[in-house]
Amino acid sequence: MNEHYQHRARKRFGQNFLHDAGVIDRILRAIHAKPGEHLLEIGPGQGALTEGLLNSGAHLDVVELDKDLVPILQHKFRDRDNFRLHQGDALKLDFNQLQVPERSLKVVGNLPYNISTPLIFHLLAHAHLIRDMHFMLQKEVVERMAAGPGGGDWGRLSIMVQYHCRVEHLFNVGPGAFNPPPKVDSAIVRLVPHATPPHPAKDPALLERVVREAFNQRRKTLRNTLKGLLENAAIEAAGVDGSLRPEQLDLSAFVRLADQLAAQQAGA
Ligand code: SAM
Repeated sequence: MNEHYQHRARKRFGQNFLHDAGVIDRILRAIHAKPGEHLLEIGPGQGALTEGLLNSGAHLDVVELDKDLVPILQHKFRDRDNFRLHQGDALKLDFNQLQVPERSLKVVGNLPYNISTPLIFHLLAHAHLIRDMHFMLQKEVVERMAAGPGGGDWGRLSIMVQYHCRVEHLFNVGPGAFNPPPKVDSAIVRLVPHATPPHPAKDPALLERVVREAFNQRRKTLRNTLKGLLENAAIEAAGVDGSLRPEQLDLSAFVRLADQLAAQQAGA
């Protein structure tokens, strides 16, 4: 491997490499990895975060899609026996191959912004294996994750993330910390999966369905948008006013609607 090989950042892989040592250090301190822990890094790139994560003594699996980065990473970390590289798409990662006990995995990454939402949903499906997650995302996405009901940021992402996790917007990062600089501001978020969800739904898949339908047309009333799933009487039976718009409902109200749908399907 040529030490002087210069990797050109690729837009299609969402490559914006971190180069600000102060920001890298702040992220590593937030993650706070310890020996004996098991970490998964999504999109290690050229290893900006990877190095510090390995120095913690934790075991680290990384998933990188860009084949050209594989020899760079393998060369850079060739002496580390706590490093395991998987070349491939994090959206297709089979969590079984990591063989981790329940609630143990720490997931981290300066995520490719073009796939951050599907990636978060993929991870939420494995929330029972995860202890915590720390991600760099577009600031606007972090604001949506951390939002409360009543405003324009409250939507499918906020509700499904908050159903599974406690959300902490830790700090913001400007474009200058990256090479090349992205066009948007970024932020670090911490997601901690709940041991038990504060508002458990009988069937979380139905919660997803209700939330998706409700926010498909967020300006309309629930009575209108949920027509295909629940009659107005069923909405009212769940203790929800059908003349409200979806952004006016909190998580527990959406869970009641999902449970109403579950009861309706069980009775059908
Ligand atoms: N962690 C590095 C850093 O902070 O400098 C790189 C961050 S860069 C924003 C995102 C990284 O994710 C790139 O290395 C990119 O190749 C990789 N990537 C993009 N799509 C991916 C996917 N579907 N699965 C795994 N890695 C992916």
